Amino acid sequence: MSTVDGLPPLREVMATHGLDPRRSLGQNFLLDLNLTGRIARQAQPFGDETVVEVGPGPGGLTRALLANGAPRVIAIEKDPRCVAALADVERHYPGRLQVIEADALTVDLAAVTGGGPFKIVANLPYNVGTQLLVNWITTEGWPPRWTQMVLMFQREVAERIVAPPGGDAYGRLGVLAGWRTRPSILFDVSREAFTPPPKVTSSIVRIEPRPDPIPVPLRKLETVTAAAFGQRRKMLRQSLKSIGGEALLSRADIDPQRRAETLSVEEFCRLASLL
Ligand code: SAM
Repeated sequence: MSTVDGLPPLREVMATHGLDPRRSLGQNFLLDLNLTGRIARQAQPFGDETVVEVGPGPGGLTRALLANGAPRVIAIEKDPRCVAALADVERHYPGRLQVIEADALTVDLAAVTGGGPFKIVANLPYNVGTQLLVNWITTEGWPPRWTQMVLMFQREVAERIVAPPGGDAYGRLGVLAGWRTRPSILFDVSREAFTPPPKVTSSIVRIEPRPDPIPVPLRKLETVTAAAFGQRRKMLRQSLKSIGGEALLSRADIDPQRRAETLSVEEFCRLASLL
């Protein structure tokens, strides 16, 4: 079967390189190049910005990014089998793809991209996806060097990232994301689109940095949200007891009978700045 880019179909790539998916590496591959093309196009226009992809696997999204105009892709992959499989793609797009064999949790993206702005586009491994996102949102210095992220998460994680106050999905992740970024869910991807199918539906999320987040020390914001959501069913006067309780709430002009999930991001920032 021919493909849009003239490279072998992904099933063939998997067979050639013995890429039987490993659960320990969160390997649920997308083999439909129409779907990976749709995901890649969410990050257009690429201009001259580098794209960082975490976990290219057999290369479905990598190929779509390159075929849809990404001038340069830096792909970070932990599995050496996948790194070997991507050599053909590197040859097909000379000078445009660099594959780094590494654990993405340990990679300094600013260093590997070499100074300029970049986008992050990835179908993230589910076991480290949230941690990677938190690392990228809590990067030192703002605005960050990344200008946009287009990321795939399990639907439930995507809902927590975009959650407004007032519901069960709203928590520490939603406050952090809402504080520094504007996140939105673009579309869902069904389980059947993956090989092998995961247990749940996935969603594509776009995340853009806010130019002017409320200036508050990250550590203090994390202290407040950890205490508040650590006992989310309790009133704030109880859950915030160890960090100032009623006195802190009164200085922030927040009713001590409220619960964590009713507080806006601005109110969390107010509490953090008063700590
Ligand atoms: N992008 C491919 C696709 O859409 O078909 C693969 C996505 S798969 C969900 C996640 C990929 O991340 C796998 O290729 C896996 O080997 C890789 N991976 C897992 N943990 C990683 C880590 N800590 N750092 C870098 N890559 C990782």
